[in-house]
Amino acid sequence: MDCVFCKIAKGEIPAKVVYEDDEVISFYDINPKAPVHVLVIPKRHFTNLMEEIPPPVASAILRGIRETVKKLGVRDYRVISNNGRGAGQEVFHLHFHVIAGITISPATV
Ligand code: AMP
Ligand code: ZN
Repeated sequence: MDCVFCKIAKGEIPAKVVYEDDEVISFYDINPKAPVHVLVIPKRHFTNLMEEIPPPVASAILRGIRETVKKLGVRDYRVISNNGRGAGQEVFHLHFHVIAGITISPATV
């Protein structure tokens, strides 16, 4: 499958990795919209939240967000997931924007 985030998960294309474990990887957004803008993704491919996410994967994502935020050293942050083209989803591999540093409208992410 030609999916940029699957390729990042497999190490086939480079990314500035913040946190990684067996199920999850996080890396800096290539086009940051805030001083801190990191993407947390499951390594397994899911299109978005409309696919059934097995509970262990959902739990791993939440852990990945926590561990990412700890590594970043930020205290307050937002988590945003765009689901569907109309909501601004451009990469159709489930991902969560972790954003800190400024207040922005979710619609601009
Ligand atoms: P979304 O609009 O919610 O689908 O977000 C996709 C995000 O992925 C955008 O913020 C892009 O800047 C980011 N992005 C796309 N390709 C890459 C890449 N190769 N490395 C890091 N971030 C990327
Ligand atoms: Zn993928």
